[in-house]
Amino acid sequence: MSADPNCIFCKIVAGQIPSKKVHEDEQVLAFHDIHPWAPVHVLIIPKLHIATLADVGPEHDALLGHMLGLAPRLMKQLGVTNGFRTLINTGPDGLQEVYHLHMHVMGGPRPWSKG
Ligand code: 5GP
Ligand code: ZN
Repeated sequence: MSADPNCIFCKIVAGQIPSKKVHEDEQVLAFHDIHPWAPVHVLIIPKLHIATLADVGPEHDALLGHMLGLAPRLMKQLGVTNGFRTLINTGPDGLQEVYHLHMHVMGGPRPWSKG
């Protein structure tokens, strides 16, 4: 499925729900989390609807590599100079809330509200 009409992140990709975008290319979108845990908290998502990290196959290897490789470049662009966290919550036990694959990337001076 390339888009799920009931998925909030697919709606963000389609521009039906606004977001504070920090990066967009053919494969992915990155935007600020609406409830940041850290001074800088962005989500990197594939434009393609993939529900969870447990749903990826070898055909997604390049996409996943692109998402991970983008993280340090975005942190640098957003002024994060002292390290950052990357996090992907997967499924119920992984405490995933939004079922469209996303990578949290968090940085900035501590203390943070969470994480
Ligand atoms: P999860 O627990 O699924 O890994 O995290 C979902 C994240 O998406 C949460 O940090 C939450 O704040 C964020 N989020 C949920 N809905 C929206 C939204 O409409 N816009 C933005 N920018 N972030 C959202
Ligand atoms: Zn989706």
